[in-house]
Amino acid sequence: MAPAFLGFSSLSPLSYKSFSSDLPGISASPSTIFGTQLKLVEIEQTHLSLPISFKSNSVLRLKASMEPPGLTQELTNSKQESIIGTRNGSDLFNEMKHRFLSFKRQKFLENLECYENLAKSQAPKFMVIACADSRVCPSYILGFQPGEAFVVRNVANLVPPFENGPTETNAALEFAVNSLEVENILVIGHSCCGGIRALMSMQDDVNSSSFIRSWVVVGKNARLSTKAVASNLSFDQQCRHCEKESINRSLMSLLTYPWIHERVTKGKLSIHGGYYNFVDCTFEKWTLDYEQSSLREESGKYSLKNREFWS
Ligand SMILES: [Zn+2]
Repeated sequence: MAPAFLGFSSLSPLSYKSFSSDLPGISASPSTIFGTQLKLVEIEQTHLSLPISFKSNSVLRLKASMEPPGLTQELTNSKQESIIGTRNGSDLFNEMKHRFLSFKRQKFLENLECYENLAKSQAPKFMVIACADSRVCPSYILGFQPGEAFVVRNVANLVPPFENGPTETNAALEFAVNSLEVENILVIGHSCCGGIRALMSMQDDVNSSSFIRSWVVVGKNARLSTKAVASNLSFDQQCRHCEKESINRSLMSLLTYPWIHERVTKGKLSIHGGYYNFVDCTFEKWTLDYEQSSLREESGKYSLKNREFWS
């Protein structure tokens, strides 16, 4: 069932404030919401002598209520007993808390109507499949705002073919395509991908117990085609080639899902590839040419169109 569409368009000039103001310091001045003051109280930080791990007998005093606090509840986190490990005297979760409260005050409360609509339903136009690599955050680099992209991330941004059976990636695809009815699927690869490097390092006949290798073998066709055309290049160059080749193989794998294939043939769904180079901060984007690719399907070839290079 298609969700109700929201009253604002995706990827248009946003009514939200831009991400450029992320992580400012938190003001002590209160905001007034629904007639109730929202107080952002400075946190009395407790540094502990537990540098890394939890003590086994520590009592976790989780003061958070089981009920969501709601907008009318004062945020009065006066004294927190942190059992979180510290790093160089800095409490990572204390910083995280400040980031969250900053988001709430500067984004959520400033765009309350949008977030109230989002609380009722979502209607993203994009399904994004990206690598789990911490440097490749699609929402951060491409500016997706909440509600604009349904995202799943896995090692090496691979899409297993339909016949491989269920994984969390195709579970997410099923929901995004059949329930949310996204109009675009974007598979994003990236430079220096460790998952692709693991794929390219695999031995053909090794039956590994490694979870990583058991997963990245999904991209074996990309590895084979890379070896076929780029064997004269250095290993690093072969990996760069495979990073892009695996994206295109994933685009073709998407077409093995009957419900994706059907929507693509009806023109309701487009399939795109993207490549983020975080060394020089460039982004390539392209679209699978379904008409041409289907003509070449038996040969295992694909055709692309609408290439763009953003630098
Ligand atoms: Zn990666």
